[in-house]
Amino acid sequence: MKKISETIEYIETRETPLSAEVVFVHGDGRLFVFDAGCGEEVLSETLDMIKAAACPVSVILSHFHTDHVDNVAKIPYDRLYVSGYTAKQLSKKGYISEDDTRIVIAPEKDPLLIGKTAGDEEVVVRALPSSHSKGGLMLEAGRFAFLGDGAYPMYKNDERVYNNTRLREEIDALKQVKADTCYLSHEFEKPKTRIWIVNRMQIIYSHRDKDSAFVPEGKDKIIL
Ligand SMILES: [Zn+2]
Repeated sequence: MKKISETIEYIETRETPLSAEVVFVHGDGRLFVFDAGCGEEVLSETLDMIKAAACPVSVILSHFHTDHVDNVAKIPYDRLYVSGYTAKQLSKKGYISEDDTRIVIAPEKDPLLIGKTAGDEEVVVRALPSSHSKGGLMLEAGRFAFLGDGAYPMYKNDERVYNNTRLREEIDALKQVKADTCYLSHEFEKPKTRIWIVNRMQIIYSHRDKDSAFVPEGKDKIIL
Protein backbone atom coordinates (compact mmCIF):
# COMPACT_ATOMS: atom_id res chain seq x y z
CA MET A 1 0.00 0.00 0.00
CA LYS A 2 1.34 3.43 -0.95
CA LYS A 3 0.19 6.83 0.19
CA ILE A 4 -0.65 9.85 -1.98
CA SER A 5 -2.06 12.14 0.73
CA GLU A 6 -3.60 12.00 4.20
CA THR A 7 -6.81 10.60 2.70
CA ILE A 8 -5.66 8.71 -0.42
CA GLU A 9 -3.66 5.48 -0.75
CA TYR A 10 -3.34 2.78 -3.38
CA ILE A 11 -2.31 -0.80 -4.15
CA GLU A 12 0.44 -0.82 -6.76
CA THR A 13 0.06 -2.13 -10.29
CA ARG A 14 0.98 -5.81 -10.86
CA GLU A 15 2.32 -7.64 -13.92
CA THR A 16 1.04 -11.21 -13.40
CA PRO A 17 -1.85 -11.20 -13.66
CA LEU A 18 -1.90 -7.67 -15.02
CA SER A 19 -3.64 -5.39 -12.53
CA ALA A 20 -4.20 -1.65 -12.50
CA GLU A 21 -3.65 0.26 -9.27
CA VAL A 22 -6.58 0.16 -6.81
CA VAL A 23 -7.11 3.59 -5.22
CA PHE A 24 -8.69 4.16 -1.81
CA VAL A 25 -10.09 7.58 -0.96
CA HIS A 26 -11.04 7.78 2.70
CA GLY A 27 -14.27 9.70 2.86
CA ASP A 28 -16.44 11.08 5.58
CA GLY A 29 -17.99 7.78 6.74
CA ARG A 30 -17.41 6.09 3.38
CA LEU A 31 -14.56 4.45 1.50
CA PHE A 32 -14.26 5.22 -2.23
CA VAL A 33 -12.48 2.54 -4.27
CA PHE A 34 -11.35 3.50 -7.79
CA ASP A 35 -10.88 0.40 -9.95
CA ALA A 36 -11.17 -3.14 -8.63
CA GLY A 37 -7.90 -4.60 -9.93
CA CYS A 38 -7.23 -8.20 -10.89
CA GLY A 39 -5.75 -11.24 -9.13
CA GLU A 40 -5.88 -12.85 -5.67
CA GLU A 41 -3.10 -10.77 -4.10
CA VAL A 42 -4.71 -7.48 -5.05
CA LEU A 43 -8.12 -8.75 -3.91
CA SER A 44 -6.81 -9.80 -0.53
CA GLU A 45 -5.17 -6.38 0.05
CA THR A 46 -8.38 -4.67 -1.09
CA LEU A 47 -10.55 -6.69 1.32
CA ASP A 48 -8.13 -6.01 4.19
CA MET A 49 -8.41 -2.28 3.54
CA ILE A 50 -12.22 -2.44 3.39
CA LYS A 51 -12.33 -4.39 6.65
CA ALA A 52 -10.04 -1.89 8.38
CA ALA A 53 -12.06 1.09 7.11
CA ALA A 54 -15.26 -0.46 8.55
CA CYS A 55 -17.65 1.77 6.59
CA PRO A 56 -19.82 1.56 3.45
CA VAL A 57 -17.94 1.23 0.17
CA SER A 58 -18.47 2.99 -3.17
CA VAL A 59 -16.63 1.46 -6.14
CA ILE A 60 -15.91 3.50 -9.28
CA LEU A 61 -14.68 1.67 -12.40
CA SER A 62 -12.58 3.62 -14.93
CA HIS A 63 -13.47 1.32 -17.87
CA PHE A 64 -14.30 -2.30 -18.61
CA HIS A 65 -10.82 -3.81 -19.22
CA THR A 66 -10.01 -6.90 -17.14
CA ASP A 67 -7.02 -5.45 -15.25
CA HIS A 68 -9.34 -2.74 -13.86
CA VAL A 69 -12.52 -4.70 -13.14
CA ASP A 70 -11.86 -8.41 -12.61
CA ASN A 71 -12.23 -8.39 -8.79
CA VAL A 72 -15.37 -6.24 -8.68
CA ALA A 73 -17.87 -9.02 -7.97
CA LYS A 74 -15.87 -9.98 -4.85
CA ILE A 75 -15.88 -6.48 -3.34
CA PRO A 76 -18.66 -5.72 -0.82
CA TYR A 77 -19.85 -2.37 -2.19
CA ASP A 78 -23.21 -0.70 -1.67
CA ARG A 79 -22.72 1.66 -4.65
CA LEU A 80 -21.06 0.99 -7.98
CA TYR A 81 -20.43 3.89 -10.37
CA VAL A 82 -19.93 2.89 -13.99
CA SER A 83 -20.68 4.22 -17.46
CA GLY A 84 -23.61 2.72 -19.35
CA TYR A 85 -21.14 1.02 -21.69
CA THR A 86 -19.11 -0.53 -18.84
CA ALA A 87 -22.35 -1.75 -17.21
CA LYS A 88 -23.25 -3.61 -20.42
CA GLN A 89 -19.80 -5.18 -20.72
CA LEU A 90 -19.74 -6.28 -17.06
CA SER A 91 -23.20 -7.68 -17.31
CA LYS A 92 -22.16 -9.77 -20.37
CA LYS A 93 -19.26 -11.17 -18.33
CA GLY A 94 -21.64 -11.96 -15.43
CA TYR A 95 -19.84 -9.58 -13.02
CA ILE A 96 -22.96 -7.52 -12.34
CA SER A 97 -26.63 -7.68 -13.04
CA GLU A 98 -27.85 -4.52 -14.79
CA ASP A 99 -30.99 -4.30 -12.61
CA ASP A 100 -28.92 -4.29 -9.39
CA THR A 101 -30.10 -1.20 -7.47
CA ARG A 102 -26.56 -0.55 -6.15
CA ILE A 103 -25.45 0.45 -9.66
CA VAL A 104 -25.30 4.14 -10.56
CA ILE A 105 -24.78 4.96 -14.23
CA ALA A 106 -22.59 8.07 -14.42
CA PRO A 107 -23.94 10.92 -16.58
CA GLU A 108 -22.24 11.38 -19.97
CA LYS A 109 -21.78 15.14 -19.67
CA ASP A 110 -22.19 16.57 -16.19
CA PRO A 111 -19.86 15.79 -13.29
CA LEU A 112 -21.39 13.74 -10.48
CA LEU A 113 -20.57 14.67 -6.88
CA ILE A 114 -20.47 11.37 -4.95
CA GLY A 115 -19.25 12.55 -1.54
CA LYS A 116 -16.46 14.26 0.38
CA THR A 117 -13.02 13.11 1.46
CA ALA A 118 -12.26 12.92 5.20
CA GLY A 119 -10.49 16.26 4.55
CA ASP A 120 -13.79 17.78 3.31
CA GLU A 121 -12.78 17.91 -0.37
CA GLU A 122 -15.21 16.99 -3.13
CA VAL A 123 -15.15 13.50 -4.64
CA VAL A 124 -16.43 13.72 -8.20
CA VAL A 125 -16.98 11.20 -11.00
CA ARG A 126 -16.68 12.49 -14.58
CA ALA A 127 -17.05 10.90 -17.99
CA LEU A 128 -13.68 10.92 -19.78
CA PRO A 129 -13.87 10.59 -23.58
CA SER A 130 -10.93 8.43 -24.63
CA SER A 131 -9.28 6.76 -27.62
CA HIS A 132 -8.25 3.85 -25.38
CA SER A 133 -11.73 2.50 -24.63
CA LYS A 134 -15.41 3.38 -24.75
CA GLY A 135 -17.27 4.41 -21.61
CA GLY A 136 -14.35 5.83 -19.65
CA LEU A 137 -14.76 7.52 -16.25
CA MET A 138 -12.33 9.45 -14.10
CA LEU A 139 -12.35 10.21 -10.39
CA GLU A 140 -11.46 13.56 -8.88
CA ALA A 141 -10.70 13.82 -5.15
CA GLY A 142 -9.63 17.30 -4.09
CA ARG A 143 -6.46 18.23 -5.99
CA PHE A 144 -5.91 14.69 -7.35
CA ALA A 145 -7.45 13.12 -10.43
CA PHE A 146 -7.34 9.46 -11.45
CA LEU A 147 -7.70 8.95 -15.20
CA GLY A 148 -7.50 5.16 -15.49
CA ASP A 149 -6.11 4.35 -18.97
CA GLY A 150 -8.12 7.25 -20.41
CA ALA A 151 -5.15 9.38 -21.53
CA TYR A 152 -3.56 6.52 -23.47
CA PRO A 153 -3.72 6.00 -27.23
CA MET A 154 -5.16 3.00 -29.03
CA TYR A 155 -3.51 0.54 -31.39
CA LYS A 156 -4.40 0.60 -35.07
CA ASN A 157 -2.34 -1.68 -37.34
CA ASP A 158 0.33 -1.84 -34.61
CA GLU A 159 0.57 1.94 -34.50
CA ARG A 160 -0.23 3.99 -31.39
CA VAL A 161 -2.81 6.57 -32.43
CA TYR A 162 -5.50 8.83 -31.00
CA ASN A 163 -8.96 9.21 -32.51
CA ASN A 164 -9.19 12.90 -33.48
CA THR A 165 -12.77 13.39 -32.30
CA ARG A 166 -12.22 11.62 -28.97
CA LEU A 167 -8.97 13.54 -28.41
CA ARG A 168 -10.71 16.89 -28.94
CA GLU A 169 -13.48 15.82 -26.51
CA GLU A 170 -10.93 14.59 -23.99
CA ILE A 171 -8.98 17.87 -24.07
CA ASP A 172 -12.23 19.78 -23.50
CA ALA A 173 -13.23 17.43 -20.65
CA LEU A 174 -9.84 17.74 -18.92
CA LYS A 175 -10.06 21.53 -19.09
CA GLN A 176 -13.18 21.34 -16.89
CA VAL A 177 -11.38 19.36 -14.18
CA LYS A 178 -10.35 21.24 -11.03
CA ALA A 179 -7.68 18.82 -9.80
CA ASP A 180 -4.10 19.76 -10.73
CA THR A 181 -2.31 16.41 -10.37
CA CYS A 182 -3.22 13.39 -12.49
CA TYR A 183 -2.47 9.72 -11.92
CA LEU A 184 -2.48 7.42 -14.97
CA SER A 185 -3.04 3.70 -14.37
CA HIS A 186 0.12 1.52 -14.36
CA GLU A 187 2.18 4.75 -14.03
CA PHE A 188 1.45 5.95 -10.50
CA GLU A 189 5.16 6.44 -9.81
CA LYS A 190 5.09 9.30 -12.33
CA PRO A 191 2.08 11.57 -11.69
CA LYS A 192 1.65 14.40 -14.18
CA THR A 193 0.13 17.86 -13.91
CA ARG A 194 -3.20 18.22 -15.66
CA ILE A 195 -1.89 21.24 -17.56
CA TRP A 196 1.03 19.19 -18.92
CA ILE A 197 -1.30 16.40 -20.12
CA VAL A 198 -3.64 18.91 -21.79
CA ASN A 199 -0.66 20.63 -23.48
CA ARG A 200 0.69 17.31 -24.77
CA MET A 201 -2.75 16.34 -26.09
CA GLN A 202 -3.06 19.70 -27.84
CA ILE A 203 0.33 19.21 -29.52
CA ILE A 204 -0.68 15.70 -30.68
CA TYR A 205 -4.07 17.03 -31.86
CA SER A 206 -2.33 19.80 -33.86
CA HIS A 207 -0.54 17.10 -35.90
CA ARG A 208 -3.83 15.63 -37.20
CA ASP A 209 -4.42 15.36 -40.93
CA LYS A 210 -7.84 16.18 -42.40
CA ASP A 211 -7.74 12.99 -44.49
CA SER A 212 -7.48 10.68 -41.47
CA ALA A 213 -9.69 10.12 -38.41
CA PHE A 214 -6.59 9.20 -36.40
CA VAL A 215 -3.44 11.05 -35.41
CA PRO A 216 -0.25 9.15 -34.50
CA GLU A 217 0.96 9.55 -30.90
CA GLY A 218 4.35 10.60 -32.32
CA LYS A 219 7.19 11.78 -30.12
CA ASP A 220 5.01 13.91 -27.80
CA LYS A 221 3.93 10.90 -25.75
CA ILE A 222 1.82 11.10 -22.61
CA ILE A 223 3.69 8.14 -21.07
CA LEU A 224 7.39 8.96 -20.99
ZN1 LIG B 1 -7.46 -0.36 -20.46
